[in-house]
Amino acid sequence: EWADAAGPRRLLLAAPRSFCAGVERAIEIVERALDLHGPPVYVRKQIVHNSHVVDDLSGRGAVFVDELDEVPSGAVTVFSAHGVAPAVREEAGRRDLRVIDATCPLVSKVHAEARRFAAQGHLVALIGHAGHEEVEGTLGEVPSSTFLVESPEDVAALPADRPVAYLTQTTLAADEAGEVAEAITGRFPDAVGPHTDDICYATTNRQEAVTGVARDADLVLVVGSANSSNSRRLVEVAESRGTPAVLIDGPADIPLGRITGARVIGLTAGASAPPAVLDAVVDALRGLGPVETKEHTVTVETTEFTLPKEVRTP
Ligand code: SF4
Repeated sequence: EWADAAGPRRLLLAAPRSFCAGVERAIEIVERALDLHGPPVYVRKQIVHNSHVVDDLSGRGAVFVDELDEVPSGAVTVFSAHGVAPAVREEAGRRDLRVIDATCPLVSKVHAEARRFAAQGHLVALIGHAGHEEVEGTLGEVPSSTFLVESPEDVAALPADRPVAYLTQTTLAADEAGEVAEAITGRFPDAVGPHTDDICYATTNRQEAVTGVARDADLVLVVGSANSSNSRRLVEVAESRGTPAVLIDGPADIPLGRITGARVIGLTAGASAPPAVLDAVVDALRGLGPVETKEHTVTVETTEFTLPKEVRTP
């Protein structure tokens, strides 16, 4: 009866959605650094891949830079949630920057696995997307031993001179990563995988929730910025269930032409997208006519990460 064509438009909200523990921690680190040290606080790369978060923190005195050579020596500098290669840490040391590291602990875990496998003499195949900051950081741990594989086809190009281990980017679609992992174990039957899944709990939960929503919706709207990997995967996961899906950065991007025919609209937000932006999207949809909202909850998240000591209050 939920999908009945009569009556108000239905909004089906995926849960969990929006901020994960790693993103909340990263934003809080910048806020606390601003409180403790006053502006400017430099942040290498976008602290998380969301335009609203970056605009808000910029307005409060954070200065986002692409590389450390744009930071005056000695300045307070935050590393983003996506992590950095050791070479970046070394450069920060040379420049006497006062570093506060907002790398998500679940990304640090993948870095640690890369070092461990490489130290054991493994070739490390990193399943991920070229050019993403997280991938660049992880590849930088042991560059001579680590190879990026984006697709099953890339597996054929791996050298076969060492035992093989594989790791994944934290924000991949589970199906997609599984296909590449299968190609790796197909060619290298002794290949070893990560100790525990590298695709993080937040990615997994948001993908499961949007899967349930896509099943019952005519259209899925995913709130997130265009450079957010996990938000883009949510679009793909919904589409793989046969439901059209659109990535929107905020209410202004709502595709009005496609809303008209949609009686049931699924809604979710990537791990870097603020809850307030999703609320604004719901309000905008409400402005188009009567709506009823319902949540589709697959699990309740309780993960929290401690703050780094530089910004912890006693
Ligand atoms: Fe950490 Fe996962 Fe959030 Fe990325 S999506 S910041 S790995 S919890």
